[in-house]
Amino acid sequence: MAERSTPWSLGGALRGMFAKKTIDDDTWEDLEDALISADFGPDITDSVISQLRANVDKYKTTDPADLKRMLRESLEERFAAYDPTLTLSARPAVVLVVGVNGVGKTTTIGKFARFLVGHGRTVVVGAADTFRAAAVEQLATWAERGGAQIVRPQMERQDPASVAFQTVEFATREGIEICIIDTAGRLQTKSGLMDELGKIRRVIEKQTEIAEVLLVLDATTGQNGVAQAEAFIQHAGVTGLVISKLDGSAKGGFVLAVQERTGIPIKLVGQGEGINDLTGFTPHVFVANLVG
Ligand code: GDP
Repeated sequence: MAERSTPWSLGGALRGMFAKKTIDDDTWEDLEDALISADFGPDITDSVISQLRANVDKYKTTDPADLKRMLRESLEERFAAYDPTLTLSARPAVVLVVGVNGVGKTTTIGKFARFLVGHGRTVVVGAADTFRAAAVEQLATWAERGGAQIVRPQMERQDPASVAFQTVEFATREGIEICIIDTAGRLQTKSGLMDELGKIRRVIEKQTEIAEVLLVLDATTGQNGVAQAEAFIQHAGVTGLVISKLDGSAKGGFVLAVQERTGIPIKLVGQGEGINDLTGFTPHVFVANLVG
């Protein structure tokens, strides 16, 4: 993950604490406040603080610089339990992108296409959210920006599963390496939506295996957004998370909390509205930026 200015850095919140000469009771309170404000959630906050208290006792240190190093190590250790690697070796590798409307799904697909094309891969996007013609057009614009081809519905409200089928068929015929399939995110019709996703999966699985199912989550909504997306986590076979809008969020801790809450690794991170603003997830860089 690239170095950049990070609104989600704990740097500011922790500055006072690390500027002190010695670790005292205020240090622990400040640390707790900083972790809670960053949306780590009470469980991770309690467990990190207990671990750090134990380490501070064990190593008999009173130096805040040691505490900072221990905080970084503790967070890195927790991240190490999850593998952020994308599995895209199948030909074609099919990636389903799911998530609630408004989280940044369309934008993410364009950015992801650009990311892959930038790594020398060929990409086709499948517009399998066929409900709104305007959404298909918006996706087409982003696919083009990303340097990908697009398979669109050929008639109004075409069955999403048939668009997914045609996308995979197109990729196979044309020798395109990766299919990114957009899907609907209208939560008003939750059971209908999950049935639709189930059908898309079954149709694709008749052609090839599904390489990844990526759930896009908006960092600015933090843990509330995860509750909204629970149906996808339960029913869509999600293999990886994409955290969007991290550039506009102070909730850096959400990134760890969401992994531990869902048990699903973060694979991509969006930090801006531009076509190049998506990167793979590199935990040690993230933690270094977070702790400062
Ligand atoms: P969709 O409804 O899920 O397809 O969402 P869109 O892709 O249309 O994005 C919704 C809004 O979020 C748009 O205004 C995007 O520009 C914005 N957006 C998406 N990703 C990011 C991001 O990483 N950072 C910022 N700041 N805005 C983003």
